[in-house]
Amino acid sequence: MSDIEIKNVAKLFTVLLLSENGQHGYEIMKEVGKRTGRKVSPGQIYPFLRQLKAYHYVETKGRAERDKQTYYLTPEGRKFVTRLSDKFGDMFEIAIKPKLTMCAHCNCEIYRGGYKEKIGGRHLTFCCENCAKGYRAMNAR
Ligand SMILES: [Zn+2]
Repeated sequence: MSDIEIKNVAKLFTVLLLSENGQHGYEIMKEVGKRTGRKVSPGQIYPFLRQLKAYHYVETKGRAERDKQTYYLTPEGRKFVTRLSDKFGDMFEIAIKPKLTMCAHCNCEIYRGGYKEKIGGRHLTFCCENCAKGYRAMNAR
């Protein structure tokens, strides 16, 4: 059996979402729509989820109706995501990146908010106030 091919953005985002968290089918549909800025129909999501399941890349938990099931990546599914990220490289990074900011001091990923401060004329974002202090101390002339 050859590997699943990802030929459109909806599929790519579906896999990305699953790599972040277990998701309900309808949440995947909604979120893929939001992130791609396109209307996503059940026909773009559910057959693909079934295919992922047939490959044992996802497992489902919960009620039998497709909308109520939660889809999870299996260890095999995680390997699939790794293969994809190797293949797509930058494109994959860009697809996930918009919501991520890096702390200017420790480089950790900030999912929301963060601590902002203007240092040396630059507006910088840090994960916390202590990182801002550390950055200031390191860059003090
Ligand atoms: Zn930090």
